[in-house]
Amino acid sequence: MRIPLDRQSQQPLYKQIEGYFRECILAGSLAPETRLPATRQLARDLGVNRITVETAYSALEADGLVYSRVGSGTYALAPLPGQQPSREQPGAPWPLWQEELLASGGLEEVVSAEEMLLAAGHPAPVSFAGGSGDARLFPSEDFRKVIQAVMRRDGSEALDYGDAKGYQPLRATIAGVLTSQGLMAGAEQILITGGSQQALALVVQLLLKAGDTILVENPTYSGALSLFRALGLRIVGVPIDQHGMCVEELEALLQVHHPRLIYTMPTFQNPTGACLSLARRQQLLALAERYNLAVLEDDYVGDLRYEGRSLPPLKALDSRGLVIYISTYSKMFMPGLRVGFIAAEGPVCERLVSFKRLNDLATSNLMQRAVEAYVSVGRYQNHLRRCVHVYRRRREAVLQALNRCMPAGVRFHPPLGGLFIWLQLPPGVDARALLPLACQAGVAFAPGEDFFAEGREKNHLRLNFAAHPPEVIAEGIARLAEVVRRAI
Ligand code: PMP
Repeated sequence: MRIPLDRQSQQPLYKQIEGYFRECILAGSLAPETRLPATRQLARDLGVNRITVETAYSALEADGLVYSRVGSGTYALAPLPGQQPSREQPGAPWPLWQEELLASGGLEEVVSAEEMLLAAGHPAPVSFAGGSGDARLFPSEDFRKVIQAVMRRDGSEALDYGDAKGYQPLRATIAGVLTSQGLMAGAEQILITGGSQQALALVVQLLLKAGDTILVENPTYSGALSLFRALGLRIVGVPIDQHGMCVEELEALLQVHHPRLIYTMPTFQNPTGACLSLARRQQLLALAERYNLAVLEDDYVGDLRYEGRSLPPLKALDSRGLVIYISTYSKMFMPGLRVGFIAAEGPVCERLVSFKRLNDLATSNLMQRAVEAYVSVGRYQNHLRRCVHVYRRRREAVLQALNRCMPAGVRFHPPLGGLFIWLQLPPGVDARALLPLACQAGVAFAPGEDFFAEGREKNHLRLNFAAHPPEVIAEGIARLAEVVRRAI
């Protein structure tokens, strides 16, 4: 153990040791019942006399911060009410640079709907607020075996950094899958990222600087908006309807705002679930070419289609290198993998690889190998089929429940795929104001306001219908409908 001791200090060494453990216990970094180092070992580590350590421990014991068990050692106790670490005592300021950080306001911190729901203490809470699929469907046991098999096969190679661009066989596998979806790509055009959130951050930081303008669908994915705001970008919203972004309104916005990049989710848009029509896809690309606009296509749940014929990704319609395509294994597989990817060609591809290297050197090598092993033996495709089957029934359940329970004036379009359904409440009903009441009733949702880049409309909310079985969905929607009815 290393405790910083100042041998020039006026303060005796035992006091310094005592002070270190006192702070650790009061700050919670030494949890109750944690055993302190044996006195003989600590004395050796610190190069002090054993009596010095014993004196420090006795002082802690006298203050009720530790107790000793004969023949076993010394253990931390829970601090008493009122005992605080010196950092938190009134009048102990942070260094100036930390105080400046505090004063600058920083990033918005909101209590999440899920936290609010838990705090409300309902015995059987139902959250429609989450952003991913149902964790109960994760093939965790299968995946454990795959990781073990990869470790057996690759040994320490799997634990090295690996290529900044990503594990080559995974890139080749992804390129093969994309090619089968009409998006012709080679392994060289694929860059593996830490989820698609990192892909977003890399692309935007490479192509834009603070003050530049980015176009987004309005509403759009709130995590992207938070990122763009944190980077100091000017965000301009393009309206969206049932058929995706209103591309007809785009040209006027391009002429006024001169954006460098447009961020779009053409397939099962988050939060609205809308799909961009083929005609609009083509129109968008034509405009991007005419106005020198880079297109960032976020295809986060493209394979989760429950109805209708699939449309080609924008990238599949792009022969000029206008589109940077990003996707992820988070929504259709498991978010904790933190594996996503970018498909792009041209100079931007190499620049993104360098930028990725600067950012985090590489995505977890072991995880990439495990994902590759899982995908390449066809198990991922099976998992995907199962998810589509299960989520399709859940979509039916949510539509039935909404039709059955919601009061007149609540509007929605059945989504053809993805995880979300977007509800419009009657004008004047504020979804955020409803959230605490809904949580009391045992149901949570994502307030729509958070997804708007501008003109924040308050009367929308997003429901994740994929997260629960049909009977839980029915119960959750019945609770929500009652709250909405009362608000109307
Ligand atoms: N894009 C969209 C549309 C999302 O909803 C999310 C997750 N909420 C992400 C990107 C980022 O997900 P991940 O980093 O897990 O791939």
